[in-house]
Amino acid sequence: MMGRVIKNISVIGTGYLGATHAACMAELGFDVLGVDVDPEKIEALSRGDLPFHEPGLPELIRKHVDSGRLRFTTDMEGAGSWADVHFIAVGTPQVAGGTAADLTAVDAATAALARSITKDALVVGKSTVPVGTARRLQRLVAEESSDDVEVSLAWNPEFLREGFAVQDTLRPDRLVIGTDAADDEQVLREVYADALTQDTPWISTDFETAELVKVAANAFLATKISFINAFSEVTEAVGGDIRTLADAIGHDTRIGRKFLNAGVGFGGGCLPKDIRALQTRVSELGLDHSMTFLNEVDQINLRRRERAVTLAEQMLGGLPGTRIAVLGVTFKPLSDDVRDSPGLDVANRLYTAGADVLVYDPEGNENAAKRFPRLGYVDSLREAAADADLVVLTTEWNEFKALTPDDLDEVVAVQRLLDARNVLSADQWQAAGWQFAQLGRYYDD
Ligand code: NAD
Repeated sequence: MMGRVIKNISVIGTGYLGATHAACMAELGFDVLGVDVDPEKIEALSRGDLPFHEPGLPELIRKHVDSGRLRFTTDMEGAGSWADVHFIAVGTPQVAGGTAADLTAVDAATAALARSITKDALVVGKSTVPVGTARRLQRLVAEESSDDVEVSLAWNPEFLREGFAVQDTLRPDRLVIGTDAADDEQVLREVYADALTQDTPWISTDFETAELVKVAANAFLATKISFINAFSEVTEAVGGDIRTLADAIGHDTRIGRKFLNAGVGFGGGCLPKDIRALQTRVSELGLDHSMTFLNEVDQINLRRRERAVTLAEQMLGGLPGTRIAVLGVTFKPLSDDVRDSPGLDVANRLYTAGADVLVYDPEGNENAAKRFPRLGYVDSLREAAADADLVVLTTEWNEFKALTPDDLDEVVAVQRLLDARNVLSADQWQAAGWQFAQLGRYYDD
């Protein structure tokens, strides 16, 4: 592909990652075709509607659907005969009933794409995959593509954060490019030219390192969260203050304060499945012990959900027959993503234990209701809290962080709050007469 001017880009898979990438590639000046197997998603995107919540993305999609630079289709053939560069952004969820990554979509999308390619092209993997996948897909592409075209593969893992996906794509904090040939790296330099500043680190490496960088980053972030949460088990027992502890160690620049917020733990469509898939992959490689610590990271994380439920039960003196408001069921604020969400898990456990649960989330109600239709969902914080015996804060949306006792004093049945994200001031709520507990803080009622 050397010396080629890149004009047309396809993005295969138009979920959180793919839809963002497609819109941002159009913003960078390319003609873009988004391809997905889900006709409803494609129909919505073609109208300029985003079927999920991501700040700034609807505007960008609409802008480029209107300009004609961004189109969506279910027709892979159309992409294969048209684009110079194809990004693979399909899902790699956890396999049902196991801990490995399910690569069915990546394999199917890559094979279908390779078969449809009729002009020289670069296929670029962006999905998060177990190490060794790129090398295998490289062979698959060679087998499935026509001998008349030159098709190569690169691996370019994605680090965007939901909630900041557009800015992370248009101004990435680093780019990691795994290739087998210098020419392929040049193609990607051309693609990303306008997203780079003079200082953007450009990390050019092999397939294996590129794949591992992504899972290493997620494993590190998960470990940091579980590290502080393990300490919060101790501060809960002895009466320390986990936030002060996090602030104090966070001042050490070698440690840093980010991702040291104790609470109900991590979730979402990435960290939990990625640390499980990594352990599974290294075991397959015969490295049984090198990642076993991640099992502990996972267990610490899951214990926090249990702890939130136990604390709620303790505060209420039993769950059956109580009314509980759960505030926040997305796995983090600024998203509508409820995949493996700690808040939703806690809400469901409270319900299963006999509580009457009313959920309010600014963006997540609809997705949550699809997963757990038996929970009650309401459209405002006040409706959720009305006549509640307990309010549980499970996702740190700004709306919840700004809560004061005044907002709820007259609304609830009993002034009782469990802050499972450690974002409110215990002094303020206790001074107002509330029975108040936080994860990471000693509780004695
Ligand atoms: P998603 O479930 O939102 O989207 C995946 C999309 O792929 C869906 O729309 C699905 O219909 C489509 N798809 C499945 N099979 C297909 C096929 N054969 N052909 C075309 N389309 C197909 O998932 P996501 O959150 O966008 O994640 C995608 C990948 O990106 C995963 O590997 C994930 O780990 C990685 N990733 C996600 C994020 C994030 O914040 N969401 C960040 C970095 C990396």
